[in-house]
Amino acid sequence: MPRGANLPAIAAFNDTVVLDAIRRSGDGMSRVELVGATGLSAQTVSNVSRRLLGQGLIREAGKQIDGPGKPRTILQLEPRGSYAVGVHLDPTVITCVLLDLEGSVIEHVRRHSPVSGDPAETIAVAVDAIGDVLKRSGVDRSRVSGVGVAAPGPIDVGTGVVVRPPLVPGWNDLHLGDELTAATGLPSLLAKDVTAAAVGERWRDPAGASGNFAFVYYGTGVGVGMVLAGAVYTGASQNAGDVGHAVVDPGPDGALCACGRRGCYGESVRPYRLVMQGIRAGVLRAPGGAPVPDGVDLDLDVDTVDELFTALTRAADDGDAAAAAILDRSIRNSALYLSNLAALLDIDRVVYGGPSWARVERRYLEQLPERLREIDMSILTHPVTLASSSVGDDVAAVGAACLVLDATFSPR
Ligand SMILES: [Zn+2]
Repeated sequence: MPRGANLPAIAAFNDTVVLDAIRRSGDGMSRVELVGATGLSAQTVSNVSRRLLGQGLIREAGKQIDGPGKPRTILQLEPRGSYAVGVHLDPTVITCVLLDLEGSVIEHVRRHSPVSGDPAETIAVAVDAIGDVLKRSGVDRSRVSGVGVAAPGPIDVGTGVVVRPPLVPGWNDLHLGDELTAATGLPSLLAKDVTAAAVGERWRDPAGASGNFAFVYYGTGVGVGMVLAGAVYTGASQNAGDVGHAVVDPGPDGALCACGRRGCYGESVRPYRLVMQGIRAGVLRAPGGAPVPDGVDLDLDVDTVDELFTALTRAADDGDAAAAAILDRSIRNSALYLSNLAALLDIDRVVYGGPSWARVERRYLEQLPERLREIDMSILTHPVTLASSSVGDDVAAVGAACLVLDATFSPR
């Protein structure tokens, strides 16, 4: 898991062990059950419970009568005992959510990312969004344990800096952690967007605690978050999940990538590239309307790409054969990549989400399983199922807030 060293150690280790056991129980536990579940002595459980009750993190919720003897008081999580903010910075949209201690979304707002891509303006919008969710929820800032921020990688988790995101040049060396903490007075924690999305999905997913799945994050670019044996895999520098330059479409008409090769997976499925293909095929009209020569890529801002991508997917849905061919080729390329990933990691599930996912969701869910079946998957002993995120569009923001809850309240 990402490190949480910059968050105050608000609870001693035993406190987090007890809190974690109560949270995982769902309906709550008696002190006697807590002794069994945690391995702590009856006296320690009693002391810790008193402290957690005093802090308002748990509550007494009725008595349990279990055979002879004194009825046992059930201790439950107090959802309103603490909160966490999650912010997702995407080149097109800034999403901010407020989660309670149970992980339920109390409030959420969405703001347009500044078209300029200016770092100071971007941070100002994020700070304003944080202020807005707190105001609308009526939650006091002192009850908020921190702000989790999900951003495109690569990132430096230790310093809270976004380093050279290839698709958002303006965010180079963006000191997100420091600036958000200075502006909000809340401790902050930075994670790569695909990691946060995987955390969010795992938090909500009942099988998440033991599951093996890949979360394909489809936004301005594409990245993969991995949950292996129930744990989110983040890698040596917390930057795991860059699908980058795995070549899946090397022919002469494969998408030309910045690395100089044709048909890199990341390049051949990202909305900008599909939009450029749509313009060349005459399905979409380029801004200004002038023809675009082969080999020339237009400099399109994120809003224009977003609008044109919507137009491309609508045209395909309305039966335009050229638009459909562009999207179907990207699905075939996705299947080629995912079949390798599924075999490498031995995962049995691929979950899709992210800001651009909704527009291609129906088409992918219809075609991708079939494309996967066509590829020789004899190396796999089990089927790979495909699903949309159970958390929905806000998955990266929810995951970023879950990271804060986890760093603050999980035993480590
Ligand atoms: Zn490449």
